[in-house]
Amino acid sequence: MKAFTNQNARTLDEAVSLAQEAISAGQSVSFAGGGTDLLQLMKDRVVNRPGSAEPDVLVHLTTVEGLDQVTSGSGDTTVGGMITLSALADNAVVRGRFAVLAEAAESVASPQIRNVGTLGGNVVQRPWCWYYRNGFPCFKAGGDQCYSVAGENQLHAIFGGGPSFIVHPSDLAPALVALDATFRVVGPTGERTLSGSDFFVLPSQDASHENVLADDEVLASVVLPAQGSGVRSTYHKVMDRDAWTHALVSAAVVLDMDGDVCREAQIVLGGVAPIPWRVPEAESLLAGQRVTPELARAVGAAAVAGATPLSKNAYKIPLTRGVVERTVLTLATSA
Ligand SMILES: Cc1cc2nc3c(=O)[nH]c(=O)nc-3n(C[C@H](O)[C@H](O)[C@H](O)COP(=O)(O)OP(=O)(O)OC[C@H]3O[C@@H](n4cnc5c(N)ncnc54)[C@H](O)[C@@H]3O)c2cc1C
Repeated sequence: MKAFTNQNARTLDEAVSLAQEAISAGQSVSFAGGGTDLLQLMKDRVVNRPGSAEPDVLVHLTTVEGLDQVTSGSGDTTVGGMITLSALADNAVVRGRFAVLAEAAESVASPQIRNVGTLGGNVVQRPWCWYYRNGFPCFKAGGDQCYSVAGENQLHAIFGGGPSFIVHPSDLAPALVALDATFRVVGPTGERTLSGSDFFVLPSQDASHENVLADDEVLASVVLPAQGSGVRSTYHKVMDRDAWTHALVSAAVVLDMDGDVCREAQIVLGGVAPIPWRVPEAESLLAGQRVTPELARAVGAAAVAGATPLSKNAYKIPLTRGVVERTVLTLATSA
């Protein structure tokens, strides 16, 4: 592992200034949350920021005061980027109002990783494609090809792929998009707030990054809009073993129910696309309808209508269909 300098930021402004100072001095820099992903990348000598070398400077964000808090009143709820996944899963407000987010946090990795890993780090973690993680010069490492196309693509994308076919690794990301979260980003020119569709980027827009963050920008917090009294939500994740791994397929589902009729639905898939993948055709089938087993089956079928599998991952299509069907029906009939 290359030697690096650790800087503990006390404020967001200081974090951004420390990153800018390093960049101006010709050094490569990375922000660190819990370090559970970043330190491993550094030990394995994998490029964290495409176009940069392994970081010379780490700017630690867990030392920024107040960045691990959940604050809410009668309206929006703000969740700080440095809250740990365990604290997020256990938070009473999050569990009560945003079950899909608490369940997604609870499903990540292992208790040890959840006790240290943060919301910001989870959303911004790099892909877990085996080519990228094993030092291949792929798009994600700043290279110019995706080795999965003609290679081992069992875990890769069935939606939105090309030229890179990674899947977005975060369990929190689909839950946040399903909740219509706003991503609050702080950088040298101040603050900007972005919807999920503006924060995450497809490889066709930028093959080397998964989001729009610049090297000196921090994901400071997410803002969750208030939910109506009929809203219920859940996260369903399928893995190739019982625990401690990423989703083969997951579904974050938010339903606004009036008795057994669904007023509005948000369905966002994980494990199947380079960004959290929303399925509007499936959502619109539910609007204004009583949720029956037949309708749930049709919703599952609509969710996979546009899928284009690679040579070894067509199994994800029936898996996704089943996950969506089951999750929608179970949630709609759960009251
Ligand atoms: C064995 C194993 C299993 C795993 N299984 C899962 C799983 O099932 N589901 C899942 O979702 N994840 C999984 N992960 C990933 C894990 O959730 C992440 O390691 C963790 O969430 C990252 O959080 P962190 O705070 O430690 O991030 P760090 O390691 O500190 O950072 C991760 C990345 O985000 C950047 N970064 C961190 N915080 C910010 C910020 N606020 N603003 C801008 N950039 C930032 C860093 O520069 C780095 O690129 C697994 C990891 C391991 C090792």
